[in-house]
Amino acid sequence: MNIAIDGPAGAGKSTIAKLCAKKMGLVYVDTGAMYRAVALYVLESGTDINDREAVADCCKGASVDIKYEDGVQNVYLNGSNVTGRLREEAVGNTASVTSAVPEVRAQIFSLQRGLAERGGVIMDGRDIGTVVMPDADVKIFLTASSEVRAKRRVLELEAKGEHPVFEEIKKDIEERDHRDMTRKISPLKQADDAILVDTSDMTIDEVVDKICSLCE
Ligand code: C5P
Repeated sequence: MNIAIDGPAGAGKSTIAKLCAKKMGLVYVDTGAMYRAVALYVLESGTDINDREAVADCCKGASVDIKYEDGVQNVYLNGSNVTGRLREEAVGNTASVTSAVPEVRAQIFSLQRGLAERGGVIMDGRDIGTVVMPDADVKIFLTASSEVRAKRRVLELEAKGEHPVFEEIKKDIEERDHRDMTRKISPLKQADDAILVDTSDMTIDEVVDKICSLCE
């Protein structure tokens, strides 16, 4: 069984997908982490992220690999484990710019298809139900209001000891949504056969139960 979960930034995809994977004995594949790894490489190279040709050229030097260690997805960039560095705001914001470059998507696509073909995955991202696994057994489009998503992100950052400004986080989220939804290649959109789950007023357990029951 393969399950696709798509949705905007901060909808709770990774939290929910991880818990569902555990409950259903599936492998959780976080595709955003793959785009974040390429973004990290582009950032560190000093390339202008708004120069598409330069990003296309630069990403040729980024070899991204995924390994499952103790059941957890680790992302390797040119042989180094970069998992711990991928959740920074700058990396996420850069990823939403560099992921619109076709050469970046082509590189990541083959990695994702390889994992999908092995089967038994719950994969989250933006274009999983529409492009990467159009044949998924269950497709979920997970969303929540930008207000709620920003609040969740603020709590997450505060728990890490940071001092985020709510309005700035909300603005970043809305800008990322806009970029992800309006790009030409593989834009974020609900697949025709995906089930919409709005998590704004739901607890994590309620969402997990709902998705697990949809998969029965
Ligand atoms: O989900 P996450 O916030 O980690 O994704 C970071 C960025 O990677 C997204 O804003 C999006 O631009 C890109 N992405 C994508 N397609 C996916 C997963 C992520 O374009 N399947």
